[in-house]
Parts: sequence; C-alpha cells; structure tokens
Amino acid sequence: MTHNEPGKLAQLAVATANPGKLRELAELLATQQIEVLGLQHFALDSIAETGLTFVENALLKARHLACMLTDETTIRAPLAVLADDSGLVVPALQGAPGLYSARYSGADAGDADNNRLLLDNMRHLHGEQRRAWFHCTLVCLRHATDPDPLLAVARWHGHIADRASGCYGFGYDPLFVPSGMQQSAASMVPADKARLSHRGQALQLLLRMLPEWW
Ligand code: IMP
Repeated sequence: MTHNEPGKLAQLAVATANPGKLRELAELLATQQIEVLGLQHFALDSIAETGLTFVENALLKARHLACMLTDETTIRAPLAVLADDSGLVVPALQGAPGLYSARYSGADAGDADNNRLLLDNMRHLHGEQRRAWFHCTLVCLRHATDPDPLLAVARWHGHIADRASGCYGFGYDPLFVPSGMQQSAASMVPADKARLSHRGQALQLLLRMLPEWW
C-alpha cells in the first residue's frame, strides 16, 4: 500500500480480473480511502489457481501478482497486494462447487451455466441437504517474498433455493438465500450484500488488522 499523503488515496493491487468482485472490494475500500487496482489496470492476465484450498489459491495469486509488480518494467510504486479466493461450498456435494465455483460447468462457463448445473446436481436434495455457504479468504502481502502475510477468512451461511431470483450481484447470488432471509443474495441491494457477505466480513476483519500489520 502506498503511504498516505493528506488528501491522497492509498492503493492496493488486487489479484482479480472478476469485475463483480472488484466492484464490491472497490466500494468497501473506498470508505477507507483505499483505491483498488485490478489485474486489468496492470494489463495482466488472470492467475492460475492450482492450490487445493481457498487459502493456498489466495496466497498463490497474491504472490504471483507481487512478483509481477516488482518487475521494474511493470510498475514502480510500492503497492501492497491483496488477493481473494472465494467460492460456494455445498456440504451435500462434498464441498462442490468449492474451488471450482467459477468454472463449475466448464472452463468457459458463465454464471448462468454454473447455476443451471448446480440446480441440476441438487434436484434430489431437500431441506437441510440444501445448506451451503460462501467462503472468502483474503491475503495481503507487502512484497513477493513476504513471510508474514495478513490473512482474513469469513463464511456466509445459507441455503440453495429451487430456482433463481433477484437482479443484483453475480455468480451464485440468484440461488443463494442467506440464513434468516427469505430472498436470494441477488435480491439484496449491493450495499447490504457488501456488509453481510463473506467478502464483506473478511474485509472488515482485514481492515481491523491492516494498520498494525502494515
Ligand atoms: P475465484 O475467482 O476463484 O475466487 O472464483 C470465485 C467464484 O465463486 C465466482 O466466480 C463465483 O462463481 C463464486 N462466488 C464468489 N463470491 C461470490 C458471491 O459473492 N456471490 C456469488 N458467487 C460468488
């Protein structure tokens, strides 16, 4: 993160090309005077997610981006790097879509394809078996060889509805009904989702620890 001068925003480079995630992070961090720069800003491609857990993938993505940014041909400013790995976990499907949430129905799958496949794979599941949660791991690195990353993990519990509803959000939001709610996450206005979601909770945790860590 660049050091804050009065009236100037701090900057975090974020290892995601997902516009939905970037928008949510940007809105949450703008309130803390932190500007978020996604992979597109640095003309970088998405990073391969080869880990076996959310936390491994988040670390891989953060380290990879930090490496790219310390290459002097790419950038000069000393940015901190933030990576997120998130996904939907359905215990009755042995944790699927899990790490493969973005590409559940294939490498080039869109949200609608993934949602269709999830509904199909859950058609025989009822009641408690439709329990699910979103997981989010956030990782901050000061530089590519930083041995002491900042980690924040959060979960958003709920269940998978029988059909899609709502017009906001992205990914599995139209199918995910948060605990204590009657409507899907895609029916929540963005500010409400940002406050309650796995990413929102993890970010609030991260922001509380960030000043001491940095
Ligand atoms: P990642 O880029 O590997 O972290 O992929 C995360 C995937 O999980 C997204 O592409 C979505 O399919 C799903 N996902 C993560 N967070 C959310 C959310 O807040 N709402 C809906 N789907 C989400």
